[in-house]
Amino acid sequence: MLCHVCYAEPADLPDCPACRGSGRATSVPLCVEPWNEVVPGLFQGGHDVRSQSRTACVVTDEFDLVVSMTTREGYGPDAGVEHHVARMADAGVDAGIAARVDELARVTAEAVEAGRRVLVRCSGGLNRSGLVVAASLVRLGHAPDDAIALVRRARGPWALTNPGFVAHLRSLARA
Ligand SMILES: [Zn+2]
Repeated sequence: MLCHVCYAEPADLPDCPACRGSGRATSVPLCVEPWNEVVPGLFQGGHDVRSQSRTACVVTDEFDLVVSMTTREGYGPDAGVEHHVARMADAGVDAGIAARVDELARVTAEAVEAGRRVLVRCSGGLNRSGLVVAASLVRLGHAPDDAIALVRRARGPWALTNPGFVAHLRSLARA
């Protein structure tokens, strides 16, 4: 994982007090909120929060569309809510993953443009969900670095610290 302060950016890395110039982090804290709104109508979240509450992350009918990169029994959404499940690892991005992310980003962006409330979630609500949310934002017209910044502003500095995900997002052409 990338350091949550310098993100291993060459300009900031040498003097970074958090990672002492390594650019890396070995542990990542859980978020406080089960989900956060990144832009109007588009939420990012997960299945685990800092409180370890058994119900905090359970989705019922809060959203019109839920995109889950992982699922857990009893975490919703309610029957009748459109639910896309596309399990993927918090690892690298190969051609197959890139195609899946692109398809999920298309579905997500179209729903947001249609005024629907959308939740994209994974386990911690930081990296896999951030990848799909940021790719959706690029489809909606944001530059990749703006999309990454919006995700981190919503979910905190530990969001999008998977270096492969950040590199993939920066390779995306702006819509
Ligand atoms: Zn650092």
